[in-house]
Amino acid sequence: DYGPAAEDARVVESWLAENSAGFGHFINGAFTAPEDLFDVESPATGKVIAKVSQGDPEAVKTAIESARAAQTGWAALSGHERAKYLYAIARHVQQHARFLAVLETLDNGKPIRETRDIDVPLVARHFYHHAGWAELLEDEFPGQQPHGVCAQIIPWNFPLLMLAWKVAPALAAGNTVVLKAAEYTPMTALAFGKIAQEVGLPKGVLNILTGDGETGAELVGHSGIDKVAFTGSTEVGRVIRKQTAGRGIPLTLELGGKSPFIVFADADLDAAVEGVVDAIWFNQGQVCCAGSRILVAEAVAPRFTELLKARMQKLRVGNPLDKSIDMGAIVHPVQLDRIRDLVGKGVEEGATLTQGTAPEGCFFPPTIAEGVEPASTLATEEVFGPVVTLTTFRTPEDAVALANSTAYGLAASVWSENVNLALDIAAKVQAGVVWVNATNLFDAAAGFGGYRESGFGREGGREGMGAYLKSPLKQLGEPEPEA
Ligand code: NAD
Repeated sequence: DYGPAAEDARVVESWLAENSAGFGHFINGAFTAPEDLFDVESPATGKVIAKVSQGDPEAVKTAIESARAAQTGWAALSGHERAKYLYAIARHVQQHARFLAVLETLDNGKPIRETRDIDVPLVARHFYHHAGWAELLEDEFPGQQPHGVCAQIIPWNFPLLMLAWKVAPALAAGNTVVLKAAEYTPMTALAFGKIAQEVGLPKGVLNILTGDGETGAELVGHSGIDKVAFTGSTEVGRVIRKQTAGRGIPLTLELGGKSPFIVFADADLDAAVEGVVDAIWFNQGQVCCAGSRILVAEAVAPRFTELLKARMQKLRVGNPLDKSIDMGAIVHPVQLDRIRDLVGKGVEEGATLTQGTAPEGCFFPPTIAEGVEPASTLATEEVFGPVVTLTTFRTPEDAVALANSTAYGLAASVWSENVNLALDIAAKVQAGVVWVNATNLFDAAAGFGGYRESGFGREGGREGMGAYLKSPLKQLGEPEPEA
């Protein structure tokens, strides 16, 4: 029962049914014959929605060769010519917005309200914005050249949006791409291959592989690539950094986070509570920059906690295709087990939990953990689920020290009616982005990325374009090159 999304869902289902024999990769402008298939499940129902191909070394090689063959011609087009394709992609994403939103929700389990109002519109915006960069390229980056063939690897939490973040700047700059979608959520990437065909993107400019980490490792290890961009876990980021070291190819890494959400005594507490909903219960908390550690001033902690718990109990968790649902399914049972393990460890270490309700199946209730010691598992490890810790502080200095007490540095959110205080704290928190009286705001024009174990390099804005050009502007957060 898809409820209000039923009509769009039927279109998606008929597309999936047409391809019931399985999906191949998108290489050189066409879909390959499906082979070596694995199941893709909808986490909300556990049903298999499609079979897709595991990318073997031959598929990786063919995709890279096709990107290589297309690269000179693509780079030889004027920025204005490339922009036309990017504008066309943006328009086609908008035309297929309902289809893409339902497909993403089916595949990933995130609420249709989010895919419809956030993921898909941001994808279109990203291509419009980067069409603009392609137009301006010769003026804004005079004399700079694309790297060549870019290997791009994306995670499952914002499948189509992460594709857009990677593909749009790469193509705008004149690179060609081999992208590997995440194994849990390959469907919108494949639909995007169809969009590339519709807009007549020259063959080989964009190649999309499906498969797991082995396909990813094969791609990163191949000698035919000129740049690597990765978004995913810090663990895999480390492996990729080792794998690319000494090869002279640039690398950008967007990794995990454990972002603080700091509430001062003079904050608008109702607004801050709504902020928490967006910070940690948006996309079931499976957000790299999720505000997963609330640090609240002792003076207002009791009132804030009471308001927050009452708000949490109102969240509706369930069928993500239902428009009225606030939280959908966790992406995969493996991820659900991971969340359960980490929360279990937290409880062993002394945390007390307050939880909302969630249906049976691949769902996890919204959770607040109190009594969490600063050095304990829940305070330091990324849960990547709807779990937030609640800790109090006395002074702004304490708040900054707690905020900076993890190995990560991706994002932070500061809540105060005193703008001077908020800006002072923002400058002291080590994070790639700091939101004041707001959270989880993304814009194609603003560089996004981390420090320390959250990675280096920026996506979006001028810095993001620089990452896809040779002799780029110094990438923010990137350590000086090793001698
Ligand atoms: P993951 O690192 O396991 O997988 C990410 C991608 O890498 C997948 O496509 C996977 O198939 C591939 N991969 C796995 N092993 C590989 C290898 N050895 N070589 C090449 N590719 C390999 O992460 P995940 O579980 O998919 O995503 C969750 C993690 O991603 C979280 O830790 C989250 O914080 C992080 N994340 C970060 C950002 C960001 O912008 N910083 C955004 C989204 C997610």
